[in-house]
Amino acid sequence: MSPNGRRVLPVRNPYTGAVDYEITPPVPAELARTCDRLRAAQREWGSAPLEHRIAVMSRWADELEKAYGPLSAADYADTGGCLISLVSPRIAVGNVRGWAADAPKVLAEAARSGVSSIMPSISFSTQLVPYPLVGVISPWNGPLLLSLLDPVPALFAGSAVIVKPSEVAPRFAEPLMETIRAVPELAEVFTFIDGDGQTGQELIEQVDVVCFTGSVPNGRKVAQACASRLIPAYLELGGKDPAIVTASADLDKAATAVLRGAAFGTGQVCFSVERIYVHEDVHDEFTDILVRKAVHVRLNFPDIDDGEIGPFGFDRQARVADEHLADAVAKGAVVKCGGPSRVLGGGHFMRPTVLTEVNHDMLMMREESFAPFMPVMRYRTEDEAVALANDSHYGLSASVLAGTAEEATRIGERINAGTVSLQDTFLTLFKTRDIGTNSFGDSGLGGDRTGPASILRFLRKKALLTQSAPPAPLARQGRPGGPDAKAGT
Ligand code: NAD
Repeated sequence: MSPNGRRVLPVRNPYTGAVDYEITPPVPAELARTCDRLRAAQREWGSAPLEHRIAVMSRWADELEKAYGPLSAADYADTGGCLISLVSPRIAVGNVRGWAADAPKVLAEAARSGVSSIMPSISFSTQLVPYPLVGVISPWNGPLLLSLLDPVPALFAGSAVIVKPSEVAPRFAEPLMETIRAVPELAEVFTFIDGDGQTGQELIEQVDVVCFTGSVPNGRKVAQACASRLIPAYLELGGKDPAIVTASADLDKAATAVLRGAAFGTGQVCFSVERIYVHEDVHDEFTDILVRKAVHVRLNFPDIDDGEIGPFGFDRQARVADEHLADAVAKGAVVKCGGPSRVLGGGHFMRPTVLTEVNHDMLMMREESFAPFMPVMRYRTEDEAVALANDSHYGLSASVLAGTAEEATRIGERINAGTVSLQDTFLTLFKTRDIGTNSFGDSGLGGDRTGPASILRFLRKKALLTQSAPPAPLARQGRPGGPDAKAGT
């Protein structure tokens, strides 16, 4: 607690383990004032022509481009040197420029006009009315990238946006705010605040729509808070993504894809591969190849800029991973390579860890590990592989690696997941504005986060219905078969 009564939250550096940063969440009255200011400015922002918003957002993209260095550096510190930090600002700029190009067509197509198919004297047109204030609550993995996915289309739609990034990885927000402040019209309707889960709950009380990216338990709390206010909640939650490798697959390529899908970012990606089902005929050979590849992966310690994977971004996650590993081993799993997390120079590191003899009684096969685990389980028939893949309360994404694209597609069509990568893993990253998806199971709730429809989440459709005939008088009551019906016969 600071001398003026504000909460001060220490922030741990995931690479060194040192507490080298702190944040001070706004008190509720301050948060309310910020939201009032954004709401007031949104009236002009939302009623201005789309061309105005495109011009302002394009200037912001210029500012983001100028700040690639500081943005990547802050995000890199937040993630302990994850490669995603180096590309996140570029992906954000691509998203802004992409929406600047796409928004006019998408919004024009959403606004219908015509004549009523029931009453030709009535014509209709659509007015798209933005929700005034969108609240975004984002997670610690991919901090910059995930904090901007929802705000960009919301701002183009004409909403004001307030973002609360994770208290675990908040360093990127200050250099990002500098780019926003450099475009004064944008700064009036777009801001970031520091804070934790408590601040997230306070934010929900102030906004008109919530976009939440995070864990299932907290997503449930957010959904409940939004439901009590009767405001929409768009939830992008965790996953336990399966990968299926068939007997006909090219095993070397499949192992490359599985290793990348499971170990990129130390497995701390919502669509990481977390369980692998391999046909019994190729199970042993595939596992051998996977282990041979996994042992070559290098940690980015002692040089943060060298190696393929870094520390856990959140020390709590290392404890979750160790618990899942201990549970699997206690229940009979065999560790082929890798093992528990280790503290190196203050950071919690884990090597890519391949396991066999796993089953669905193990936490590692049921709950999100967010760790570089590759538990490999054998299956006998295609039906069994599909049943195992679908035996989960999650349904975010999945992968199928088969001998042909046709075989992979046939299996992929039977898996309950919002995105299925065929003949590779991890393709979720490449869908952006092209195609929309919905999560299955507990992995999410609400409309498309990607694709053209994602901007429509921030707009209410209002119908303007115009009568060209004289208004009809109030009709007299009458029942079929009653006196009026008789008179007409
Ligand atoms: P988390 O649920 O702990 O926190 C996410 C955010 O919610 C943080 O900003 C946190 O401060 C805030 N928060 C926590 N409790 C809250 C509450 N009661 N009310 C309002 N806000 C609250 O998640 P995390 O550990 O930061 O992120 C990892 C999780 O996010 C994983 O489960 C991962 O799969 C998921 N994720 C999903 C996607 C996706 O697109 N589906 C993307 C990235 C991460």
